[in-house]
Amino acid sequence: MLVDTCPQCSSKMGAPLKSGRQVCAKCGWSSGPAKVSANVDARSAAPPQAGLGGLIQKLLRIVGRTISYGFTSAQRWFSQLIESGKQRRSQPGKFMQSLNQRLANLEEAIPTNPDAPRWMTPEAAFKFLGGDPTNLRSEISNRKGNRTIKFNNFKSLASADDFLDFGLEYSQERRDANKPCLRWRSPN
Ligand SMILES: [Zn+2]
Repeated sequence: MLVDTCPQCSSKMGAPLKSGRQVCAKCGWSSGPAKVSANVDARSAAPPQAGLGGLIQKLLRIVGRTISYGFTSAQRWFSQLIESGKQRRSQPGKFMQSLNQRLANLEEAIPTNPDAPRWMTPEAAFKFLGGDPTNLRSEISNRKGNRTIKFNNFKSLASADDFLDFGLEYSQERRDANKPCLRWRSPN
């Protein structure tokens, strides 16, 4: 509703502003909040999740999602496990083996001790022991220091005892699976 005169000081009112409000040039009185600004007011007053409560709600949602994600992964993991168990029902030993393998893989995927020795390829292990796998003449020596070996011979060693001589733990299973199969065993 437009007014001709200011209800406060009775001076003549001019044309309304773009927002639809009328403002008195003399005393500053203005007509009630225009439509647009009313909406803005409603919006800024509305968010029920502002402040600490909203933050906590959001946090709980994230935690919930994380948990359900972990749960879904675990579910998937177990269903795969059961699936592979069904396929090998005729070979219960193999199932246990695959269970073991999966647990080992899982354990490995979760690093507990950052200093724990990592599985190495023969190249990496040779380098770890001070040799140069790209140099045919480069040699490393065993723990006792009474035997040296070049990379060509080192990589064709195939028994745990042979590698243990060089302070390494050897996994035939990992080599068969084309995985890094050697890791350092701290002397104790
Ligand atoms: Zn006025």
